[in-house]
Amino acid sequence: MLDLKIVNGRIPVFETGELKVSDIGIKDGRIVCVGACEESAREVIDAGGKVVAPGFIDIHMHEEVLADGANGDEYDIANRMLLMGATTCVAGNCGNNRQSVDEFFSHIDKNGSPVNYLSFIGHNFLRRSVGNDDPYRRSTEQEIKKMQDLAIKAVDKGAIGLSFGLEYCPGIDFEEAVELCEPFKGTDIILSAHYRKDAEYAITSVKELIDMTRVTGVPMIISHLGSCTAYGMMKESLEVIQGAIDEGLDVCADCYPYDAFSTFIGSAVFDEGCFELWNKSYDAILLTEEPYRGMRCDEELFRRVRKEYPEMLVVAFVMNEDEVIEAIKAPFVMVASDGLYRKGQGHPRGAGTFPRVLGRFVRDMGELTLVEALKKMTLMPAARLGLKGKGRIAEGADADIVVFDPEVIIDGATFESPVEAPKGIDYVILNGKIAVKDNVILRNRLGKVIRRQELVKEGNE
Ligand SMILES: [Zn+2]
Repeated sequence: MLDLKIVNGRIPVFETGELKVSDIGIKDGRIVCVGACEESAREVIDAGGKVVAPGFIDIHMHEEVLADGANGDEYDIANRMLLMGATTCVAGNCGNNRQSVDEFFSHIDKNGSPVNYLSFIGHNFLRRSVGNDDPYRRSTEQEIKKMQDLAIKAVDKGAIGLSFGLEYCPGIDFEEAVELCEPFKGTDIILSAHYRKDAEYAITSVKELIDMTRVTGVPMIISHLGSCTAYGMMKESLEVIQGAIDEGLDVCADCYPYDAFSTFIGSAVFDEGCFELWNKSYDAILLTEEPYRGMRCDEELFRRVRKEYPEMLVVAFVMNEDEVIEAIKAPFVMVASDGLYRKGQGHPRGAGTFPRVLGRFVRDMGELTLVEALKKMTLMPAARLGLKGKGRIAEGADADIVVFDPEVIIDGATFESPVEAPKGIDYVILNGKIAVKDNVILRNRLGKVIRRQELVKEGNE
């Protein structure tokens, strides 16, 4: 007896680019048959007219602060992820962890989680851990040594690699970043990096990240390429990355499907000169938290909020959408949310990224095919991470599945209401059980930690 059967749905076949009508059977958390599944099941979902895709893998997001869980459900961000079809998420990006990897993993081991979680260990987090609170100061040799030790410990505990947030810490020079990687040369960890500076500095910044891979030999995921180069430099940046790949370097990128970025107003991103850099004025900044929620800035308000509320998440409408689309279409770019919320406020990408690509870029604008887009949110990140059982609908694969209506799917989250659920997702199945039905969460403790030691990397198989 199967646990669950999904019949009449259309399954993406990544090799041919087609959608194929097929039934699938699920038992004990795995897909046990694809095609004609004769065995009866406890529960049957008729997915006629719908797409049955592998659960989305968000290779770049920002986890919650689990210690904050005093009121209600502490899994604020992961619940948004689950509702938009993400079943596996990668935390600890952009150099930032919101707690130690060990604390984060232990909490999930004990309590479960709405999604499966992997995590990077972040350089900026390590800097603070060893007492370098000054983002403008290079770390000392002694601090770097301590950070290496902490990074080794985090990787031993299951972190998948190191993440960097160069823009947030101008004090990090290339040598500091490379030195931190030193103990990991020749191992199977990966790097993910938020570049040093955007717009006119975009190409130099992309080249610096490529050089990190050239010098260390460790693979690199360039973070949210859109917010780095969608200011007229996308074409050139894509050529530079393709050149590096042709040279034999293991680099790729992720990108979220919006023309605005979001971060803390107190961060170095908004240092003097940023508006000249983007060729925008103060009203390009939207404040997302009280007492100024929903307000656009002028110079006076911008300076006041930056001083009085440096932790406030704000949205900056400064990028070009056609260049963001160009990035997402590139063969080495994955779709990822960069989702980040604080007290339920922030950028809608954390609740809308995947449905927005499938609804807006695929269906409404015809910029890429449905199967191409799905590959960028399933098979590609699975391969990059070494998640052998995920990223495709196949016998033996983990039963992480999204059932959606391709004619209806669209993001619901907006800059005014950034946690709104998307439309058109009928089911999200996680580890073989129904987690979401008709946009409502039924179970949100089905997810677990996936540690580096469980992954299968090329060459290790
Ligand atoms: Zn970032």
